Amino acid sequence: MDSGNHLITLLARRDRANLLELCQSAELQSSQVLGVAGSAQHYVWFPQAAAISLFAKIDHHPAVEVALVGREGMLGAYLALGMAVMPLLAVVQGAGDSLCITARAFSMELARSASLQKVMFRYLYVQMAQLAAFVPCLGFHQIAPRMARWLLMMQDRMQTDQVVCTHEALAYRLGVRREGITIAALSLQRDGLIDYRRGFITIANRPGLIAIACPCYAADRAIYAQYLG
Ligand SMILES: [Zn+2]
Repeated sequence: MDSGNHLITLLARRDRANLLELCQSAELQSSQVLGVAGSAQHYVWFPQAAAISLFAKIDHHPAVEVALVGREGMLGAYLALGMAVMPLLAVVQGAGDSLCITARAFSMELARSASLQKVMFRYLYVQMAQLAAFVPCLGFHQIAPRMARWLLMMQDRMQTDQVVCTHEALAYRLGVRREGITIAALSLQRDGLIDYRRGFITIANRPGLIAIACPCYAADRAIYAQYLG
C-alpha cells in the first residue's frame, strides 16, 4: 500500500502496517504552526502532499528557512534520539494532506521496530548533512539559483506546478532582501522558467530551472537517494 510518504514506504511490511494503524489523516493548513523551538512535541507528522518549513532564528533577526519537509521526510525524527522537544520553528508552507501520530505512540513504535529506527537514523543523518550545507549555500550562492532550488523543492514536495508565495514571504524564507527576490523573479520570468502573478508562481520550465538551480538542489537529492532512495 502506498502511504503517500516515502519514509513510511521504506519500512518493513509489518512495521509499516503497525505504524499506519496508529496514524490519523490530517489536512495541514497554510501558515499553521506545528511547533516552536523549545516546545514539547506532541505529534509527529508524515506529509503526503503538504510542505512544512523549518525556521531558525537568532536574536532580533527575522527567522530564516533552513529546511523544507514534504512527502520525502517527516517532522519529529529526533524522537529517535530520545528528544521530545522541537529544535526549530515548524510552519506549514504548502497546505495539504499529512499523516499524524502522537509522539507517545510513535516512541513506542520506535522501541519495537528495528526498521523504523533504521529509517529514522538515516533520515537524521541526511537532514544533518543538508542543514550543514545550508550555511555555505546562504553565503556563496546567488539569489536566482537559490530561488530556483526552492521552487523545485516545493514542486517535488507538493507535486504541483504552482507555488503560492509572495516576494516578501520568499525574501523572508531565503534570508534576503525583497528587492533581490523581485530582480531574481524577473530574470527567471524573462527566461521563461516561471510565470509570476499576484503571489502565484507557476513553474513553466522544470528542466530549465534545474539547469540554473544552485548545486545544492542536486546535492540534496543525491545524499537522500544514497541513504533513503
Ligand atoms: Zn545552494
